[in-house]
Amino acid sequence: MKKIVLHACCAPCASYPIELLIKDNFKPVVFFYNPNIFPYKEYKIRRDELEKYCSKIGIDFFEDRYDIKEFYKLTKEYKDEPEKGKRCSVCFNLRLQKTAEFAKENCIDFFTTTLTVSPHKNSNQIFEQGHLVAVKTGVEFLEYNFKKNDGYKISRQIARENNMYAQKYCGCMYSMR
Ligand code: SF4
Repeated sequence: MKKIVLHACCAPCASYPIELLIKDNFKPVVFFYNPNIFPYKEYKIRRDELEKYCSKIGIDFFEDRYDIKEFYKLTKEYKDEPEKGKRCSVCFNLRLQKTAEFAKENCIDFFTTTLTVSPHKNSNQIFEQGHLVAVKTGVEFLEYNFKKNDGYKISRQIARENNMYAQKYCGCMYSMR
């Protein structure tokens, strides 16, 4: 099985992508880098839930640091943008860049992200950032549109079966409005 780094934002969103990647003969390594999540208490809840789920199903889990200052430095000029706007592109780029760097450091040839499972996100906007990062890092980005084929519905079903915490907003302070 080929390894792939799966950037994951939370346990419910990671559940179905992990299953699909395994079906596609990949060995996913889950990578949690989400400095956009505010406040830290919420970050910790999402991280802990995902780490617990990975441990339950025997998937490797890694976390990078919570550098929220970096997130605000890069996004503050776009604070009034709506969701799916420029701020989100910057946010995707930041998270995917770190994911690809992690893959490179660990000699893993591919990366992708759970972010496309959400019906609130434009998958093409995420793919665009994935490919920009791939060109910069030399790690191949795989275009998985996880919301396809009822992916979102299945992920929520797995979340319910596992009593997972499910958040009510995307993540950043701006998305709480
Ligand atoms: S709304 Fe979501 S994707 Fe957009 S900047 Fe905030 S956390 Fe990132």
